[in-house]
Amino acid sequence: MIEIQCTQCKAFIARYTGSGEVDLLFLDSVLKPDSLADLKSSSKADLPHLICIECSRKLGKPAVDETGRLAYKMIKGSFRKKGIIKAMTTSPHTSWR
Ligand SMILES: [Zn+2]
Repeated sequence: MIEIQCTQCKAFIARYTGSGEVDLLFLDSVLKPDSLADLKSSSKADLPHLICIECSRKLGKPAVDETGRLAYKMIKGSFRKKGIIKAMTTSPHTSWR
């Protein structure tokens, strides 16, 4: 899983399944927030731009791939991604308490 943050204000933007480069953010891979995941059932024409909820920075533009999957074409430099360690591994901070 990967989380995307706004580079400008560090706000949480989205969590999705996948790895590697985020060029197209597919809506059917989005886990959170629901408001973003729910957009997968809309059409490209109805899709709003992806905008940071905190600072209103523009992060992505509506797009579709060749099979018609809805996605956001992410704007380079506007977001930061970080991998999430699976929930199975315990945090190092709790093991010695
Ligand atoms: Zn922001």
